[in-house]
Amino acid sequence: MMVEVEAVAVVDAPVAKNNSAQPGTVYLVGAGPGDPELLTLRAARLIAEADVIVFDHLVSDAILDLANPAGERIYAGKERGAHTLPQEDLNFLLVHLAQQSKRVLRLKGGDPYIFGRGGEEVETLHADGINFEVVPGITAAAGVASYAGIPLTHRNHAQACVFVTGHLKDGSMNLDWPGLARLRQTVVIYMGLSGLPHLCAKLMEHGLPADWPAAIVQHGTQPSQRTVTGTLTTLPTLAEAANLRAPTLIIVGEVVTLRDKLRWFEEGSD
Ligand code: SAH
Repeated sequence: MMVEVEAVAVVDAPVAKNNSAQPGTVYLVGAGPGDPELLTLRAARLIAEADVIVFDHLVSDAILDLANPAGERIYAGKERGAHTLPQEDLNFLLVHLAQQSKRVLRLKGGDPYIFGRGGEEVETLHADGINFEVVPGITAAAGVASYAGIPLTHRNHAQACVFVTGHLKDGSMNLDWPGLARLRQTVVIYMGLSGLPHLCAKLMEHGLPADWPAAIVQHGTQPSQRTVTGTLTTLPTLAEAANLRAPTLIIVGEVVTLRDKLRWFEEGSD
């Protein structure tokens, strides 16, 4: 009987993949929100093995310290308003490096497929016939919420959670406001710091209460993490007074109130 079970397990096991980085391949890897302990094992291995690492400004120094000292590092920028390398040039660079039979690591903050333009980069690799692999990372919403003591869903408070980009275009955000301004839902806003007053005003205009809880977290999961909590009415002023620095993540919803009990990472009070 025992032998039979083992035989089935062997047949069902996935084909073992070579776990090492292969030359001529681009690895699109999520670095998580900052704390190196939040890297996946696969990401840590690839960082140590890569011949060249092309990284964004969101990738923390603590993570770059894990890289192969003999490897090359290329900064691809992407700070707000200061795109160091235009996306087309970056796509071309990745293709070019892979064609030189290098093990290329494209390292991005958080998860490459969440507001990371990872899809666009892989489309180019695909079009040019370059081998690629995508390694997911802990996206800011998941990592930052955990370290801020805010569960994104909770049976008593929120049955849904939506991630949106709060990037301002011509001074406003092109978002589905009626869909966002809902009770029993958490809204997580990436890239929302400069648009915070607009965001809060729009959510109230579309029906959320003026005292609806909201939080903004600077440098989540990192030693410089700071959280400011308030309501849709008070948060813009409180955030401005706190002089927060990007990256910051905004979390809107009743779950924010749980932070009082569930916080564990940051020193001090809000
Ligand atoms: N691909 C990334 C998001 C890139 S967009 C991910 O999955 O997390 C960049 C935005 O992510 C920032 O403007 C900020 O809103 C958010 N972000 C990333 N890291 C963060 C961190 N450590 N703390 C707070 N916000 C963060």
